Amino acid sequence: MTIKRLFFVVFAGLLALAPCFARNYDADIIVVGSGLGGHAATYSALENGATVIWVEKNPVLGGSTAIATGTFPAAGTTMQKERGIEDSNELFIQDLNRIGHNKADQNILRAFVEKATSVWEWFVKGGFQVDTKRGPFIDPVHSAYSVPRTYVPSPNKSSMYTDFLYAKMEPFKSKLTIRLNTKAESLVVEKGRVSGVLVVSDQGTEVLRAKAVILATGGYGSNRDMIKRYSPKYSEVMTVTLPFATGDGHRMAAAVGADLVNMDYICAYFGGMPKAPGQYAIGFGDLTSGAADGWKGEIWVNQRGERFINEDDGDEDPREMALNEQPDLENFIIFDQGMVDFNKRFPIGGFEKRLEENGYAVKKADTIEELCKAFGLPVAQVKREIAAVNGDHSAGKTDRFGKKPAIGFTKGPYYGILNRGTIFMTQGGIRTDIGMRVLDKNGRWIPGLYAAGEAQGTSQWGGLGMAGGTGNAPPLVFGMEAGKNAVNEAKLIK
Ligand SMILES: Cc1cc2nc3c(=O)[nH]c(=O)nc-3n(C[C@H](O)[C@H](O)[C@H](O)COP(=O)(O)OP(=O)(O)OC[C@H]3O[C@@H](n4cnc5c(N)ncnc54)[C@H](O)[C@@H]3O)c2cc1C
Repeated sequence: MTIKRLFFVVFAGLLALAPCFARNYDADIIVVGSGLGGHAATYSALENGATVIWVEKNPVLGGSTAIATGTFPAAGTTMQKERGIEDSNELFIQDLNRIGHNKADQNILRAFVEKATSVWEWFVKGGFQVDTKRGPFIDPVHSAYSVPRTYVPSPNKSSMYTDFLYAKMEPFKSKLTIRLNTKAESLVVEKGRVSGVLVVSDQGTEVLRAKAVILATGGYGSNRDMIKRYSPKYSEVMTVTLPFATGDGHRMAAAVGADLVNMDYICAYFGGMPKAPGQYAIGFGDLTSGAADGWKGEIWVNQRGERFINEDDGDEDPREMALNEQPDLENFIIFDQGMVDFNKRFPIGGFEKRLEENGYAVKKADTIEELCKAFGLPVAQVKREIAAVNGDHSAGKTDRFGKKPAIGFTKGPYYGILNRGTIFMTQGGIRTDIGMRVLDKNGRWIPGLYAAGEAQGTSQWGGLGMAGGTGNAPPLVFGMEAGKNAVNEAKLIK
């Protein structure tokens, strides 16, 4: 572009913004949502000199940090160097692409990886309480990264990040208005730019006006209608997301022309245990996630009584993908007393207690027939699978899934755990560029509108899969980025 043309474009842009110059704004920036993304965006906007109205529909700040743990991955950190761990952004990108099946937006993925290290270092240098005994480590719960690059706060709760950020806002509090119990309903667009939010609270319906708006509204894991519409296969799949995860940001952004991407992606994760039809809890990561690798012998069967995966495979991802293909995303984990004895070193946490408390998903029986009957599983097929495993174990053979059974079934009683794939976060979201500016279907910015966190859809940086810590770290990294860039845009508007 020639200098003359550049001047013309800038001049024309300023002219387009002119109608906004004379207007009154309630604040420079409005941030909608107060999870990790909302905290990071609010802090960053304040730190960059803006006044902020922070809108949260819940009575408290924090969003999903109320239940999530605090893993954060980053490459090339001081903590890694101190421990002699060699790592690089390229290796991190490779790992994320492997786990995400190469379906991430490569620009967003790279932007995340390149910024994650400095954000993590910023937390650490600022006195964030890190569990230095544990990290950096290879997170056993998800498909492993090539090197230890996961960190957790002490205690391991994601609210540690929001508490930290909230405390850092203290010097800027005179510039911050927090509106709890206030639901953003729609975005206000004037002269082609987003310039406010229509909100509803006990004060009624009002329009809050600002020079830019950041949507940090999280995912839509608790919005059945959206899941049915975009990923019908998951219509009945359990979710552990909190009730507020209703995709409001997705809806508001789409209404002003934003492109929603990968809305058909959902990847349910292990650990959902029904307590009764329609009710569930999280449990038994010991036998489902990567942490299960130490435990040997158990078989997983689907509703048809068929095994479908190498239960001992060290990589979490194939198991996760296979689980997503089973009827109702159900797997029944079956083992016997011989295996409990064999795996003494890896006791299953609280099995007896869960047996008492949740007879629906956790069962014990004297015979395999009784166990299958209790779960409604086809006895003959389960017995065929057991006979095959026993045969392979005796013969030292590797089975059709690549598993060489370390132990067969030897003695009762028999145990079973019903596990269902469960939605922890949603992959589809509001398309942004690497500056978190929301894009329309033609890839053009929607002036004044930003999105950060799960509202962007985890697929933008994580593709289709679940890499450890990529629920937490990107909202923090991109929240910071959105705050800074929104302020820069706001500075152009009088
Ligand atoms: C049980 C569980 C465990 C998890 N563990 C991990 C983990 O160990 N590691 C990891 O990396 N990830 C984990 N995750 C995922 C991670 O917690 C989320 O990806 C992350 O917290 C999302 O942050 P966010 O700020 O984008 O959204 P959220 O934290 O969901 O915040 C969104 C906020 O927006 C508010 N909001 C929404 N709509 C409106 C509206 N219309 N008006 C006003 N406010 C609105 C909501 O009330 C909420 O406060 C876990 C998730 C769950 C459910």
